[in-house]
Formats: sequence, structure tokens, C-alpha cells
Amino acid sequence: MKSMPTVPLRRNPTRAVRIGTVTIGAGYPIAVQSMCATPTQDVEATAAQCEQLRQAGADVVRVAVDSRRDAQAVAQLRQKTQANLVVDLQENFRLAELVAPHVDKLRYNPGHLHHHQRHKSWQDKVAWLAEVAARWDCALRVGVNCGSVDPELRAKFPPEDSIGPMVQSALEHCEHLDRLGFTRYCVSLKDSDPQKVIEANRRFAAQRPDVPLHLGVTEAGMPPEGVIKTRIALEQLISRGIGDTVRVSLTLPNAQKHEEVLVARQILADIAAGRVRSVVDYGLPGLNIIACPSCSRVENEAFVQLAEQVRQMTQYAKDHKITIAVMGCRVNGPGETDDADLGLWCGPKYVNLKRGPQLLGAYSYDEILDRLKEELDRLIEQRSAEQAPTAQEG
Ligand code: SF4
Repeated sequence: MKSMPTVPLRRNPTRAVRIGTVTIGAGYPIAVQSMCATPTQDVEATAAQCEQLRQAGADVVRVAVDSRRDAQAVAQLRQKTQANLVVDLQENFRLAELVAPHVDKLRYNPGHLHHHQRHKSWQDKVAWLAEVAARWDCALRVGVNCGSVDPELRAKFPPEDSIGPMVQSALEHCEHLDRLGFTRYCVSLKDSDPQKVIEANRRFAAQRPDVPLHLGVTEAGMPPEGVIKTRIALEQLISRGIGDTVRVSLTLPNAQKHEEVLVARQILADIAAGRVRSVVDYGLPGLNIIACPSCSRVENEAFVQLAEQVRQMTQYAKDHKITIAVMGCRVNGPGETDDADLGLWCGPKYVNLKRGPQLLGAYSYDEILDRLKEELDRLIEQRSAEQAPTAQEG
């Protein structure tokens, strides 16, 4: 850690956006969010986790909703927690009208709007979402994610440019919402690589300094690496006046989930006090394990333990520049693992193993570590062969 003189943090002149009892933007304190990892339909467990997070200092708590049953559970949840609730909508955005009466914010993912009502334009779908949000006094979050950018937009950019389509997607949705007269929204641009999070948010904020930003590094993984990745992104952005809410996404067992909130508060306090790392470039020199923070969509609780086992088992490869992604579900797992050298996404009984975008097979939770090791060894061998100097002729 390196200390620098404390300076008052400047903040971008963002709009005020109210989320239940909390207001973000417009110079209000940076809010801390977290997300439940309990199954949403287990109302008792989810209500207990909402309270666990709220009491740890979460200003806003997110829950995932993918089905009508999840939506019904949210109505009951509202009666059992005082947390400001955000619902996370992915493919099934039409559930918005069932949950909006019970929550304070709706998060939609622009890259997942195309799955339903294919005959409608995304503009019409967003207009409907804005109308639902306005009717039920909800804010919106336009949540752009590196692993699920709108495929049409993705195709307009070179394959190696992952930031351009994310920023463009966010800008188009903001423009559209503004045109509709709905301004009670914030934006997030998340990636598992802190450098990309920094770059995407800087580019977006340069064009739309008025739009509040929710910051986070997705699939940051387990502590301590997950904390370090997020700290770096938050330091670089908040010190430049960018960011109105934050989440530290960590892969933690349910009983420790509130540590996300404590870590976020600590990072914010450190930045405000000038206790920052002097990081100019966060290029990961060696092995990079990314793991999703887990949420109610996790299909087998063994996922959290598996993520830890992967980290331990792969330590022997720590000096190799290889990215391994471990994801908890089929909603985001298949897409989010595409960019990793090796990816695991966990189903109820099997773990799918990928090399880049190619699926290698599905293995039981007992078999997967050995299979992963085989593939990791193969990759290391192949990379070493590629780097070895070619034999001189003659
Ligand atoms: S990958 Fe799936 S389980 Fe993991 S945080 Fe994302 S949605 Fe939740």
C-alpha cells in the first residue's frame, strides 16, 4: 500500500437517481450494493440473506428473477425485509411487470433482450420496461456485461475489440431512455478484467458524465485475488470522479456473503483517505482464476467449493499466463467462459469443460478436477512448444 495526501474526491456531475430510501449520483455518498446467492424461491433463506447484507451496510440488495415462481417469491420477500430491493432480469425481461410493484429498481441486460418477443425491436422492449418502471416508482439499471453484449452490435466491431460494443450498447440505451423521457436510470459496464472495466467506464463517462455509474468487476473470484482486482478498478475510477454505486463480487459461502459489503466499505474508506495502491497498469503476469460471485442461479452448491479447489489445484501453474473461469450456472456460464483459456460452467449434476469457446465435454463434480488438470497440462505444454526457439537449420 502507498499513501498519498488526502484530497477531496471530485465526483462527476451525475443526475440524482432514487432507489427506495437511497439516492445515488449528484454528489450523494457512493452507495454499496450486494446480491443474494440463495435460491430466490427459498423466501426464508433469501429474506435472511437480504437482512444479513443490509445489516452489514448494503444500501441496495439484488435478487435474481428468471421465472414466474421467482417473481412470486419476490412479492413475499418484500414483506420480510427492509432492504432496498433490485431485481436482476436477464433473458426473461417480461417478468418486470410482476416484480416491479414489490421492488425499488429493475436491472436489465441489453444483451439479453433478444431472446424473447423476437418480432419486437429492442427499442420497443426498453420503452415497455421504462413504462413499467415509471408506473411502479422504480429506477432502472442498464447492466451491460462483457460476456453477453447484444450480438447485432458485437458483429459491427472487430472481434478483438470487446470494449467498443459494450460502451456503444450503453450509450444507445441511454439515448433511447432519454428520448422516452425516462431519466431515472444508471448504467454498469462490467468485465472480469479490471483493466477493461476501467477503460469501458472511462470511455462511457467521458461521453455521458451525467449518467450515474454502478461499478464492479464481474466474476472477480475469491478473496484475496477478487478483492485486489476490484480494488484496482475502483481506485482508478473513483479517483477520477467516476462511480456512484459499487459492488465487490466475491465467491463466498452464503454465511460469509456479507463480507462483500464490508470489503466494499473498506475500499471506499481507503480511497477517501488516500490509502491506495500505486497501480498504473494491472497486467496479470501469471495464472488468472476468475470465478463468478454466485447468486440464486447457482444450480449446485458444490460450485463454491469447486472454485476453491480449482484455485488450489492449479497453483503449480501460477507462473503461466493462463485464464481459467469457473461459473455457477447455465444462464451466464456458457457465454462468460468463451474468452477464458479454460472454462468450467456448473450444471446441477455435471460441470461443462471448455477450451476457449469449444466445449470439451461434461463431467461429474468428482471427475472435473482431473480433467481440468489434463487440459491445463496440455495447454502449458503447447504454449512452451510455441515459445521454444526453433532449431537452427544446417
Ligand atoms: S454465472 Fe450464473 S450463478 Fe454465477 S453470478 Fe452469474 S448468473 Fe449467478
